[in-house]
Amino acid sequence: MSVTLKMGRRLMLEPDFRLFLKFAYNFGYKGMRSVQKFKQRLKKGISFPPFLYLSIINSCQLRCQGCWVDVSAKRQMIELEDLNRIVKDARQHGNSFFGILGGEPFMHPQLLEFLAQHPDCYFQIFTNGQLITPAVAKELRRLGNSTLLISIEGSEIVSNERRGGNDVLNKTMEGLRNAIAERLIVGVATSVCQTNYELVSEDWLRKLIDMGVLYAWFHTYRVVGPDPSAHLALTPEQIVSLRRFVVAMRRKLPIGIVDAYWDDKGEALCPMATGISHHIGPSGAIEPCPIIQFANETIHDEKTLYQLITESDFLDDFRKTAASATRGCIVLERPDLVKELVQRHSAPDTTQRGTALAELEALTPRHSQHLPGQEVPEDHWLYRFAKKHWFFGFGAYT
Ligand code: SF4
Repeated sequence: MSVTLKMGRRLMLEPDFRLFLKFAYNFGYKGMRSVQKFKQRLKKGISFPPFLYLSIINSCQLRCQGCWVDVSAKRQMIELEDLNRIVKDARQHGNSFFGILGGEPFMHPQLLEFLAQHPDCYFQIFTNGQLITPAVAKELRRLGNSTLLISIEGSEIVSNERRGGNDVLNKTMEGLRNAIAERLIVGVATSVCQTNYELVSEDWLRKLIDMGVLYAWFHTYRVVGPDPSAHLALTPEQIVSLRRFVVAMRRKLPIGIVDAYWDDKGEALCPMATGISHHIGPSGAIEPCPIIQFANETIHDEKTLYQLITESDFLDDFRKTAASATRGCIVLERPDLVKELVQRHSAPDTTQRGTALAELEALTPRHSQHLPGQEVPEDHWLYRFAKKHWFFGFGAYT
């Protein structure tokens, strides 16, 4: 049986079948339709992202290296009423998928109530898994409209070091087991860096498959935030070998592998620069992407979300400047340009710590996912087809 059929069989048989149907329709079909609408808008010169990422709260019980969120500051969160307004507005323009981030999203007291109010949408929750109790997992199953992307950053020792906590891996694995026991759709994400590169292995993926995990996401470590830990960054050679590994494993193993940085030809892209996604921070600030903590618009302004994003000179200039500078990450490669953009638009720092500009000034330009001449094209027909139609440059890099 081909790996694609094995993957299809896992997706249909391992999670609760009702959850598979919600995933296929609310995310698969309606997600594809939202990208089609995005493309139609672009033809009219209007950029409103089909995928919005919401950092619903800053609080978190961990203290990860490279985290850009004010996790130890006073709690700041997007209230339920505002969350509902964001979804309602975006849905009017065809959106159905939302990424839910933090801090730790399960520290938001109204998260489950929020999910319950949008049964026709689909939510990917980026979580450290430590607050996924059997009761929470049961409720997520009842609601059926979310997938958990649980972050695992290495062995027990590395997890404690990377995440600034104790017994981190065991607590996360307990949450993961509770989720699998309720037959939820679960993925595992890793921010690949120097201390956990061993997770870039077939062995690790086979372990995930045995645990009942349906997809993986290997992020490349971002050198940002108040504790950027630049020594953890991957070398260009490691980024290329990670890319090769992902492409090879997609053909070999019945587990989905997500990436957000390469198109079907293996050419790099930045989701922010293409306009396919933007971010709303815990203060309600509408930011180009999660690690760019500057904004001129917030959800509390007297306009609809659609107006705020489509009429934003700051976001428009950010997309265009980033796309003309690189196909990679403007924050890593050209922090000087990010500073220029922020000053050109007098965009306020959206953090509570108020040091985002100083952090930017302290960054040394470095490589990112854009490594010209080392493109690794997709090798699996399904990923090639999906990226060719729904995840590419969208004309940003012409
Ligand atoms: S600017 Fe960098 S971190 Fe932000 S979306 Fe683009 S590539 Fe990703």
